[in-house]
Amino acid sequence: MKNGKVTLLSAGPGALDLLTLRAARVLGEADVLLVDDLANPEIATLAPQARVIAVGKRGGCRSTPQAFIERLMCRFARAGAHVVRVKGGDALMFGRAGEEMSALRSAGVPVEIVNGVSAAFAAAAGLGMSLTHRDHCAGVTFVTAHRQDGSAPNWAALAATGTTLAIYMGVNRVEALAETLMAHLDATTPAAAVQWAGTQQERRLVTSLGRLAADVRAGAFASPAILLVGGAVSEAALTAPPQASGIVTGHASGDIAPDVIAQAA
Ligand code: SAH
Repeated sequence: MKNGKVTLLSAGPGALDLLTLRAARVLGEADVLLVDDLANPEIATLAPQARVIAVGKRGGCRSTPQAFIERLMCRFARAGAHVVRVKGGDALMFGRAGEEMSALRSAGVPVEIVNGVSAAFAAAAGLGMSLTHRDHCAGVTFVTAHRQDGSAPNWAALAATGTTLAIYMGVNRVEALAETLMAHLDATTPAAAVQWAGTQQERRLVTSLGRLAADVRAGAFASPAILLVGGAVSEAALTAPPQASGIVTGHASGDIAPDVIAQAA
């Protein structure tokens, strides 16, 4: 019997052509695919011989218990299967890869990682901006608005870093988040929201921190969406007029300007 193993494979933000060549090769070798619900289900077409199991973990929705997913991976791998655990974005950015790797290692199951494009990068590409523009910031910070123990991150410290804040899992609590950030950052700080970044359904909004919550609600932005806050957002190809925000919808870079669907006064 061949030796089983698990690959944590990054599905990128959605579009299949944002998968790496390595991801495509590994998918072709998979015996079992465990697919996260933020990953594009069409990914299964690249794994023709694999048994496909959906294991959603989407915040707030019915989800497969983490311990069950870990047991499933170990069981198939021990039976000799090459298990490919497909995760949205980059497998190592949030999404519990750390827990899964320790569970697999303690079970003696070999584990490998295939990287991919995380949502913040897809969002920045859609907006036509650099996350680390040196005229505006010292770098980028990836942060979740929602910690495991329910506590908030230290927004004061984060605001003081002078980095672009790429905020994952923040759209549902954008009011509280923007308010807290405004205690430490000017309300005029450029801010953006991108929903379904890197997919055909991508929608982007560029505004200011002071208007972010109202504009996110007015534009009905919902999960999965990423928020970007910081001076670098002023370089977005879609720029907010002084008193208004801009919302565009459509597919990734290249078609940013023409399809403005809403513009708040
Ligand atoms: N591993 C993923 C992140 C998982 S956490 C990655 O690297 O992108 C889930 C959060 O990621 C969502 O709540 C949302 O904030 C963000 N996200 C994932 N896919 C997204 C997408 N296509 N567009 C915008 N945000 C996305």
